[in-house]
Amino acid sequence: MNFEPSQSFAVEKLNDFIEKNLIEYSKLRNFDYGPNQRTNISCLSPYVSHGVISEKEIINKSLKKYSFIKNEKFIQEVLWRIYWKGWLELRPNVWSDYLEDLKKIKENFKDNQNYLNAIDGRTNIECFNCWVNELKEHNYLHNHARMWFASIWIFTLGLPWQLGAEFFMKYLFDGDSASNTLGWRWVAGVQTKGKNYVASEWNIKKFTNNRFNNIKLNENPIPVIDNRNYLILNNSFTNTNLSNSQDLLIFENSLSFEQSDFSDQLFKNIYFVFNGNETRQIKIDQKVLNFKKSLINDQIENLKNKSLNLKMINIKDLKNMKENLLALYPSVGENLDYISLNKLKNISFLYRKIDQYSWKYCNKGFFNFKNYIPKIIQEFI
Ligand SMILES: Cc1cc2nc3c(=O)[nH]c(=O)nc-3n(C[C@H](O)[C@H](O)[C@H](O)COP(=O)(O)OP(=O)(O)OC[C@H]3O[C@@H](n4cnc5c(N)ncnc54)[C@H](O)[C@@H]3O)c2cc1C
Repeated sequence: MNFEPSQSFAVEKLNDFIEKNLIEYSKLRNFDYGPNQRTNISCLSPYVSHGVISEKEIINKSLKKYSFIKNEKFIQEVLWRIYWKGWLELRPNVWSDYLEDLKKIKENFKDNQNYLNAIDGRTNIECFNCWVNELKEHNYLHNHARMWFASIWIFTLGLPWQLGAEFFMKYLFDGDSASNTLGWRWVAGVQTKGKNYVASEWNIKKFTNNRFNNIKLNENPIPVIDNRNYLILNNSFTNTNLSNSQDLLIFENSLSFEQSDFSDQLFKNIYFVFNGNETRQIKIDQKVLNFKKSLINDQIENLKNKSLNLKMINIKDLKNMKENLLALYPSVGENLDYISLNKLKNISFLYRKIDQYSWKYCNKGFFNFKNYIPKIIQEFI
């Protein structure tokens, strides 16, 4: 499995997937055939999570190839990302509480042998150890493996979900505050309260094509209990007025300026903001940081002929920039945290139109959100 850090590679991957494999997606998507056989899924998440290709582009291309009915499952999956993002935007305290809990739990578990064995892939569960190594080597796991992994972590190894979510964020190329935190909460049974995801031996055997044997799991666990309730914020996500000749900041989750809703606007300078480990609350693996840096350099290279002033800066440089700045909204997560923790009041946000429109439907569950998918498509695709 290979994730080249470039937009052209991502677009090629998308086109290839649509041409050859999309037709079988809903039938085969749940199978994890191992890292060398991934054509049944798109493997686009490292690129979509960085905004190198957009949900709009993916859905557009898939609908040019097949009807909505034939594509429905794939389109739903692509829109999960917008749903999870919107869900967290409406309840940002879920993220800040997660970080607070993580700090305390980390301290308590730093010498815990059970935890240290898990992150080293030295448990007595072969498939789990194999996924640990796969995650570290390829910086990616199949969706079903993420669900099994998280379930085993929480219910068989008895470890806190917060530490597992941190471990994923450290190694995944697509590590994303919303999809990851809410994915782990969902498996634990705190996202949909009382409903946990339970991995079972037969399910793992079937969907890994019998690659693993002797999988002894706790198949009858009770969900994790978290009695906190989160009120929905009434945020309108309104754009700041644009004036020509301002500077624009682009953070890691919306790297493609050309795919943004603001590419016809004139900006004085465009700054791509790199956020390294000194300024992150969750430290990530050097390979993942390199991936992010290379994607930024690739964007700068792609825009070279457009007579724009482009530069990569470190997020710490923002403290010294006193002028008013516009920024493509970085979403709830580490970048937004840096802006608020450092009280950088001179930064105003520009939201994507598709997010502004869709996030209002994220107040309830995904089943409710699904009803609005045709409307979202009609409006944006
Ligand atoms: C515990 C757990 C943690 C996860 N952490 C992350 C994470 O940090 N970052 C991340 O991007 N995804 C995360 N996911 C969601 C999902 O596993 C990945 O997006 C998916 O496996 C990516 O592979 P793909 O591109 O081949 O997906 P495909 O099946 O080909 O789907 C196409 C696209 O749809 C989107 N998508 C599909 N499934 C989901 C989903 N469940 N949630 C959100 N978007 C989805 C992705 O953008 C993906 O690229 C997590 C899931 C779980 C259960």
